[in-house]
Amino acid sequence: MGLFDQPDYVNAVAAFDTLLEPLVLLNQIQRIELEFGRKHTMERWGPRTLDLDILLFGDLKLNSELLTVPHSGIKVREFVLYPLAEIAPDLYLPDGSAIIDLVAVTDRRGLTTIE
Ligand code: AMP
Repeated sequence: MGLFDQPDYVNAVAAFDTLLEPLVLLNQIQRIELEFGRKHTMERWGPRTLDLDILLFGDLKLNSELLTVPHSGIKVREFVLYPLAEIAPDLYLPDGSAIIDLVAVTDRRGLTTIE
């Protein structure tokens, strides 16, 4: 993603239930990023120690200054679509697109699975 002369990185998708409001959840994941010593560089999309994103929040569609869900890159990033389809193969995005259809038209590029 972004800069190509950066080291390989590990990407994963998790699903969980929460009682937190979306912006409170965003605040919490940013706190975790800081705890893990995320280093902010001047380069957008440059290497970072930990990057947590909210991909989906149920069927919510939100486009605010601080939070956009579904995440803006969700439909085009192979490193999001493939692991998401692994844990939720029957998923439909809030716009009605099936995750399985999105994966079918998305090349794996350099993506490999860690067993
Ligand atoms: P990044 O550097 O890619 O992690 O982007 C962080 C910024 O994106 C934060 O300041 C958030 O306010 C904003 N943001 C907007 N939508 C999302 C989302 N779905 N998940 C995480 N961060 C988001």
